[in-house]
Amino acid sequence: MNRQTSQALFSEARDLLVGGVNSPVRAFKSVGGTPVFMREGSGSRMRDEDGNAYIDYVGSWGPHILGHSFPPVVNAIIEQAKLGTSFGTSGRSEAVLARLVRERVPSVEKVRFVNSGTEATMSAIRVARGVTGRAKILKFEGCYHGHGDAFLIAAGSGALTFGVPDSAGITEGVARDTLTAPYNDLDAVRAIARENAGQIAAVILEPVVGNMGVVRPREGFLEGLRRLCDAEGILLIFDEVMTGFRVSSGGAQALYAVMPDITTMGKVIGGGMPVGAYGASARIMDHVSPLGPVYQAGTLSGNPVAMAAGIAMLTHLDQPVYDKLAHLGGRLEAGLVEAARAAGVPACVNRVGSMLTVFFQAGPVTDLTGAKGSDTARFGRWFHALLDAGVYWPPSQFEAAFISAAHSDEDIDQTVAVAAEAFRAVA
Ligand code: PLP
Repeated sequence: MNRQTSQALFSEARDLLVGGVNSPVRAFKSVGGTPVFMREGSGSRMRDEDGNAYIDYVGSWGPHILGHSFPPVVNAIIEQAKLGTSFGTSGRSEAVLARLVRERVPSVEKVRFVNSGTEATMSAIRVARGVTGRAKILKFEGCYHGHGDAFLIAAGSGALTFGVPDSAGITEGVARDTLTAPYNDLDAVRAIARENAGQIAAVILEPVVGNMGVVRPREGFLEGLRRLCDAEGILLIFDEVMTGFRVSSGGAQALYAVMPDITTMGKVIGGGMPVGAYGASARIMDHVSPLGPVYQAGTLSGNPVAMAAGIAMLTHLDQPVYDKLAHLGGRLEAGLVEAARAAGVPACVNRVGSMLTVFFQAGPVTDLTGAKGSDTARFGRWFHALLDAGVYWPPSQFEAAFISAAHSDEDIDQTVAVAAEAFRAVA
């Protein structure tokens, strides 16, 4: 496959942008090779700057649950842009989208729109600290909540040690206020809560993890966290930036019937435009300015073009969409598992609805330590075999692949055939 134009564009971009990209995973560091520069997308497909076509399983990292260039979303964007792109005032579409969110996400009564998932999570912990008057937060190893300082903390050597920054530029003070526990380990959380009694403002997690690859919550894990938080006066935050409107219309909280105190959202809610949101009961949200003392603001927050895209997206997410996603997800999972087995490649697939990861190991994978046991070199070779055969898979072992409702059974069959060949090539 000829990707000369991508290579030339990357070479120019490296001179002008840090590492040639505006978000690190796009640089293909963990799989090697030159990133592909995409020009257009339609339905389940993308086409690159050299004219090569790909079946896409990245979907802009989640937003395109109805496929690329979904006509109602594109039309809504165009119509709003004709009226104006930003006013810096209130507009009627903000309450329309907020109502759509409230109707779908069971724990949310009031919403604040922001511009990214990162802003949503940063704001959510500020609210939790403002409400509780406590400083510390507890997060889980392998859960990603955007690039806010408080979240860029890796695991300490033991669950009870203080966090160690995962990035330069994070102060010791910030690291001290972030506690970490292994995902799916309720006993570790209980021990940390005991050790830090009266000091933890919030427990934040991805209720289904996408950011160490897909890892589902063990039975009873979410319920256990809910009980613990209630007992200790800690606020429970579900970061549904990835799972919101994806694993079900009401997100993971509706799927597992466990209600968080605060929910963060992003990706699908903006229909491919830069939107994030956080929401909770009115009792909690009324702590936010202008009603309460927790300050949070944004020049482009609630932007009318972004709201229009989000409204068009959410109004088209009905039950048949989720049924189709489950059907396609099941077929892809079964096909990949069988293809790996037939080639003799140790692999396990974790899937929740239309999010899935092929871990290059026998598994099962239930936490970050387990995920790290994957054969990342073999994954990289498999990724490139897929890419060269026209399947665009996430360029990292530790990411979720996303299926859209624009994918067809034929897309899945073609992908499984390509993947089977790729498994044989890396066996
Ligand atoms: N939270 C989760 C669960 C995410 O997956 C992401 C991004 O992938 C974020 C937060 C950050 O969102 P954004 O990249 O829009 O800042």
